Amino acid sequence: MPDTIRIDAHAISPLHYVGGRRVGSEAAFEVFSPIDMRRLGAMAEAGPAVVAQAVGEAAAAFPAWAALGAEGRLPYLKRFAAEIGARAEALCLAESNDAGVLLSRMRHGIVPRAMLNITWFAEQALTLQDQVIETPQATHHVRHDPAGVCAIITPWNSPLMLTTWKVGPALASGNTVVVKPPEWAPLSCSLLADAAEAAGLPPGVFNVVQGSGAVTGAALVSDARLARISFTGSVATARTIASVAGANLVPVSLELGGKSPFIVLPDADLDAAAATGALMYRNATQVCLAGTRFLVHESVRDAFVERMRGHVEKLRVGDPRDEATEVGPIIHPRQVERIAGYLERARAAGAEVLWGGGRHEFGELYFQPTMFAGVEQHHEIVQEEVFGPVLVLQTFSDDAEAIVLANGVDYGLGGVCYGAEDHARAVAEQVRTGFIWVNAFGIRDLAAPFGGRGKSGVGREGGAWSFDFFCDVKDVVVPKQPFKPSFSHR
Ligand code: NAD
Repeated sequence: MPDTIRIDAHAISPLHYVGGRRVGSEAAFEVFSPIDMRRLGAMAEAGPAVVAQAVGEAAAAFPAWAALGAEGRLPYLKRFAAEIGARAEALCLAESNDAGVLLSRMRHGIVPRAMLNITWFAEQALTLQDQVIETPQATHHVRHDPAGVCAIITPWNSPLMLTTWKVGPALASGNTVVVKPPEWAPLSCSLLADAAEAAGLPPGVFNVVQGSGAVTGAALVSDARLARISFTGSVATARTIASVAGANLVPVSLELGGKSPFIVLPDADLDAAAATGALMYRNATQVCLAGTRFLVHESVRDAFVERMRGHVEKLRVGDPRDEATEVGPIIHPRQVERIAGYLERARAAGAEVLWGGGRHEFGELYFQPTMFAGVEQHHEIVQEEVFGPVLVLQTFSDDAEAIVLANGVDYGLGGVCYGAEDHARAVAEQVRTGFIWVNAFGIRDLAAPFGGRGKSGVGREGGAWSFDFFCDVKDVVVPKQPFKPSFSHR
């Protein structure tokens, strides 16, 4: 059985959390830090038996949790959020160490947001059964009944944020969950299990099974007792999960990758656009919604490039635990190899390096923030998600061309459009993505929909959309006049 993992003064269980108890398994996997490749410890890996046990516990806990109603669940979930807050520093250090996320971002952005992901949905759920549709012949009481056991599968680039973003609405609306954290960054979800336990969530309501996608994830998604699968990750994995879920007729929500445009119109505030542009390197661009294709009007191209270069030159690449660092490491040597391949092939295809272009001297797993120009729409570097700090810049001569370029990839997650507000908004409305920011980046309100088009995903989460996904919508129809049975009635 693997030993407790220690990050500074904080102890993290390497075990699963099933039915309110820590559970081990014979198999284990190693966890490394991308900061310096030091070994953090080993985690237990759940095989089919532990996964089946977790789904069984979640199914057994479901009726009582659902019967509590949103009001009955609210105090539990408020305590859950408070217990997340009580573990804030451990969570920050866990994710900074195992995923390489900036410690400053964990402290000031992610942990407060993780708490809000739980409390906001718990409060919203109080109004879930309020929808009434009046027609001349009937009153329709629209119910959002919890669906059952939900599998929550998340990637390594922001596990705490993404897990709570799904667990919040799932639990608030009366479902029970089995979480499968990412194997490259499993620690924060183990701490979430501690928080659930300390909050007194009834056993089986919140379960965590640790392990790889091929073993643990595959066992989880093939369990026919699941009512929903909410997945965030890559297109390739989404295809596998969707085919298994399809066979079992289990609804899936898929939040996938992106190759989002960052459009700079000729009437844009270039200083603001350039400062926001440099933000795309945050988390070493291991961010699904980052704008990675810069589309800049030809008349402002040089001025914009010089301004953005000024910001990029000042970016601090380094150890994510240092609060001053702005660009941290790449998660894993496998990803480093992938990114290096993209750099090499882009150069071979004739791309011109505007800045960066290679590894960063800080360490093995670090890259220089890079920008390529001289690329064509069909080039791999324009079409594929790199998931590293490698951006491309193209120019356009009018709005119509900007929109054609923006829409000329298979992905359709997000986007950014800088320009005079009405102009930027008119262009933004024609970009085929799930969302797009006008003169801004990264605003994510919990009430708003989030998701992608094309290869960027299926379905929307956030606000009412999360509840629509995690619930079975039912219409209870009460006629306004006494009902007269008739075979000819429509
Ligand atoms: P991935 O698809 O390799 O893994 C994601 C999760 O799926 C992991 O927990 C993994 O263990 C699990 N998994 C893998 N194979 C599985 C299988 N056969 N059955 C069940 N589960 C399986 O993705 P990744 O490399 O961890 O994450 C990076 C990707 O995630 C990028 O494409 C990125 O754009 C995307 N992403 C999207 C969003 C969004 O909200 N749209 C947010 C963050 C990341």
